[in-house]
Amino acid sequence: MEPLLLFAIATAILAGLLASLSILRRGRGKKENPFAVSTEGETRCPNCGMGNMWTDGRCISCGADLPG
Ligand SMILES: [Zn+2]
Repeated sequence: MEPLLLFAIATAILAGLLASLSILRRGRGKKENPFAVSTEGETRCPNCGMGNMWTDGRCISCGADLPG
């Protein structure tokens, strides 16, 4: 077998492994930090954890000032 072909196959396998690993980490990270300041267009209230629109200046649940 050609060494170049072996290298190409090894690279493809590595890339696949890395991709699935990063997907797993991303899924886990979300659950580990439910009070993240900002995720995908919404702002978490630092006071009660309620998800608000990033355009809102105040929490719709408790009325606390939102960061940003
Ligand atoms: Zn709140």
